[in-house]
Amino acid sequence: MQIEVLRLNHRIGRDPRISTHVCLTARAFGASKIYYSGQKDSKMEGSINKITERFGGPFEIEYTKNDIGLVVNKKKEGFLIIHLTMYGKDFRRYKNKTKNKNILIIVGGEKVESEFYNLAGYNLSITNQPISEVSALGIYLYEIFGYRKKFSNVKVKIIGKEKGKLLKQL
Ligand code: SAM
Repeated sequence: MQIEVLRLNHRIGRDPRISTHVCLTARAFGASKIYYSGQKDSKMEGSINKITERFGGPFEIEYTKNDIGLVVNKKKEGFLIIHLTMYGKDFRRYKNKTKNKNILIIVGGEKVESEFYNLAGYNLSITNQPISEVSALGIYLYEIFGYRKKFSNVKVKIIGKEKGKLLKQL
């Protein structure tokens, strides 16, 4: 089972922090790959790859110029397309639809073109109130898959402590 994410319409200068956080959330909660469209941002790719090199993967980041084409191809490959949107149906009612399937989860930016609503297998909401792409993705992945426990090629591991910080070099 593969979990992948598509982040739409990234804008350099306006979105680097939030798009980076979308990527980190995807990685920490079990996605093996994130695609992003909008503007290509090598700096953001570099910082995500650095995190993966240190804290483990597998996790890939890839820019796509043609986000609609990507979704069409993923559908052809048999991926279930889940589009997270505050206008969608309550995701809690659709939990069983995702079992044992390869999934592409789409999260938007400021604007989401209507094609994505039509291409999606399901348009799902976390709540019908506006939140953010980071929280929507985090809640969805956590509720459906839990947090990711297995990482490979880990160089640095964080040992959780009640106080202070502890990093273990592996
Ligand atoms: N106005 C945009 C639209 O057309 O949907 C929403 C922009 S919102 C800042 C960015 C993204 O966060 C959305 O595209 C969606 O993926 C996600 N999002 C925001 N609120 C959500 C919610 N309540 N449930 C699910 N996803 C949500």
